[in-house]
Amino acid sequence: MAKYKCTICGHIYDEEKEKIRFEDLPENWVCPLCRVPKKFFKLIEETKEIVNDNEENLNKVKISNNNVAITRDNDKCINCGMCETICIKREDMKFGNESELCVNCGQCVQVCPVKSLTPKNELNMLLNAKKDGKILIAYTSPSTRVAFGDIFGLESGSFTQNKLVGFLKQLGFDYVLDTTFAADLTIMEEASEFVERIKNNGKIPMFTSCCPAWIKYAEQFYPEILDNISTCKSPIGMMGMVVQNYFTKVKNIEQKDIFTVAITPCTAKKYEINREEISGTDLVLTLYELEEYIHEKNIKYEEINEDTFGSILGEGSGAGVIFGNTGGVMEAALRTSYYLITGNNLEMNDISFNNVRGYNGLREATIKIEDLELKVAIIDGMSNAKKVLEEVKNGNSKYHYIEIMNCVGGCIGGGGQPKININKEDEIKKNRITNLYKRDDYQKIRCSHENPEIIKIYKDYLDSPLSKVSEELLHTHYIDRKKGDKY
Ligand code: SF4
Repeated sequence: MAKYKCTICGHIYDEEKEKIRFEDLPENWVCPLCRVPKKFFKLIEETKEIVNDNEENLNKVKISNNNVAITRDNDKCINCGMCETICIKREDMKFGNESELCVNCGQCVQVCPVKSLTPKNELNMLLNAKKDGKILIAYTSPSTRVAFGDIFGLESGSFTQNKLVGFLKQLGFDYVLDTTFAADLTIMEEASEFVERIKNNGKIPMFTSCCPAWIKYAEQFYPEILDNISTCKSPIGMMGMVVQNYFTKVKNIEQKDIFTVAITPCTAKKYEINREEISGTDLVLTLYELEEYIHEKNIKYEEINEDTFGSILGEGSGAGVIFGNTGGVMEAALRTSYYLITGNNLEMNDISFNNVRGYNGLREATIKIEDLELKVAIIDGMSNAKKVLEEVKNGNSKYHYIEIMNCVGGCIGGGGQPKININKEDEIKKNRITNLYKRDDYQKIRCSHENPEIIKIYKDYLDSPLSKVSEELLHTHYIDRKKGDKY
């Protein structure tokens, strides 16, 4: 019997205690503490010998210098292989030397034990805009309000919406708006598009389109199914457009004077706003970047005053809030699709489509709306999508509507969230999901089509879902990246 020590975190594997010889452990076994593979363990007498692979053998994801979302500090890298493992196993990415195929999801950032990989830090752009006297406008993604507290060591999943708004005001933002409003807008457009496709024999199944990592994945590996993807921009894509065109009008300010910043859990959004067909947002700041700033400035949670969102584009329904977790977009869309098909709202008790909820990679449900039997699927983590995507590509899918989110758990598990303790990953993510659903339960307005601000923007500006102006501002198209233009 022998003991082995992890050269990364120091965990001791004691054969006597574990009753399995170390060499008999399966090849995919990982350190229970820091999750590095077996090869990082040394017989206890040999632990002084530090693993020192040469450059050619490095097991790491390749991050191009052109990557707009993620950077790597090579000096910090210890070649543990965790980034590559998560990229291949969980995200199903095998991009060899083609680093431009990276979908920018940032899952590698979350598992990197030494912060060699980080979201591209762009806080200086905000500070420069402030110096230039711009009117600073922030909008916060649904899942940020259950992750902001992690920065200060609060219990995971704590609901800290008003503290987040207060912090952003303290940082110098003139307006803090809520992307849950745009999540509701997305649902109005997407549910209308779905019902339209169902009624008029349009392309079915329809995929959700709010995750830019999933969209880039589809463009690169499944261009055959691009017509199946909803043409709706993501909530941030829509928010950018309504802030530029509607908010400025209502507030009587000039577009050229504003600087718009999306506060996100997501590194891939940094890539999304660089797509020329999805404009409107000047900067994406992840909570990860804010965490670095908060620690650098030693800002204490108690020192932040609570505040509330602005009165325009500052209100989201419960449906908008649950966009932050896997299954949330589907549930929100079904609530409004039900209304669009039947003309009635669901009873409060039926409003939660419980069978679309969960945390297990792939779920499916059949939903009855009048004589329609809708088959839906919900997928989080790209490695869970392959079978479903192959079926759609081959024309034999049984589904009508499919939600795909790149990150496990949905955006609550985004690569730009504050760095999590990966040993508690499941617990943290489940707490975040639970608290978003609790918030939905607590809200008076739980359906996107009942949000008074949504009703008002259609009345005053957009006319109706899928109207000419809605199509122009809120919808987009996709690119076959197998034919070039990969990055
Ligand atoms: Fe970003 Fe959410 Fe997609 Fe993850 S699931 S890449 S956080 S949009």
